[in-house]
Amino acid sequence: MDQILAGRTALVTGSTSGIGLGIAKIYAEAGAKVMLNGFGKPEEIARARAEIGALQGGGDAPYSAADLSKPEAVRQMVREAEAALGKIDILVNNAGIQFVAPVDEFPDDKFDAIIAINFASNFHAIKAALPGMKARKWGRIINVASAHGLVASPHKVAYVSAKHAVVGMTKTVALEVAKLPITCNAICPGFVRTPLAEAQVGPLAKEHGVSEQQALEDYLLDKQPSKRWIEVDEVAQMALYLVGPGSGGVNGAALSIDGGWLAA
Ligand code: NAD
Repeated sequence: MDQILAGRTALVTGSTSGIGLGIAKIYAEAGAKVMLNGFGKPEEIARARAEIGALQGGGDAPYSAADLSKPEAVRQMVREAEAALGKIDILVNNAGIQFVAPVDEFPDDKFDAIIAINFASNFHAIKAALPGMKARKWGRIINVASAHGLVASPHKVAYVSAKHAVVGMTKTVALEVAKLPITCNAICPGFVRTPLAEAQVGPLAKEHGVSEQQALEDYLLDKQPSKRWIEVDEVAQMALYLVGPGSGGVNGAALSIDGGWLAA
């Protein structure tokens, strides 16, 4: 791959799995130095660090175990990334969780956790990383929102609220940095084949008394006219475009990658 990110550095949150890991990989392949973050089994984290490290010239990629539900941990992660990478050129706020229940049964602690991780952590990370970008006069911020940042579905009150808030914050930050060579954009994927989305299939099958394949087709992919999962690599390619040459005019956008969901 062309080394279009040579000399660039990136902090990608929630990059031990799924979309975040895909973005970390494609950035490292394009020549960036990347810091990882996220939870997982020690051997999975070690594998991700070794894999990304190998792409960026050997050794383990730097990693922060920060729990993004805690604002001080988010700030500490940004400080660690600045120390380990020398600077943060690219910030990808990607970490996220899901919980599904009707609003009148939705557990308070799950609501609070989704707002903290999926939304508030983006604010704390941007606030901490932006001064360095301004001082160096270059930066790229990507918030991984969701199709659920633009439309709602039942039983996802916390997730839909958090993702709509992420889209609003993305636009606000974009306006504030508009005259600088800094951009802030949101990516709004439909259903992407990752552990977070695949975990929703089993419970839907049980709830409706159908096979998992039927549940996938009838209750998740029914929203996507393409009738197929979006793949992690497709989202990673969009994230690469947003930090590569020629993307500076894209600012404050909420870019759909959803097989046509939002067109319907
Ligand atoms: P995933 O479960 O594969 O990955 C989530 C990552 O976030 C993991 O690395 C996990 O360890 C990390 N994480 C979770 N809680 C954390 C915390 N408190 N502190 C630090 N890290 C934490 O899920 P994914 O599907 O790759 O999701 C990534 C992002 O994409 C999320 O923001 C999600 O809402 C969004 N998204 C996913 C889909 C989809 O269909 N998979 C669709 C639209 C948007």
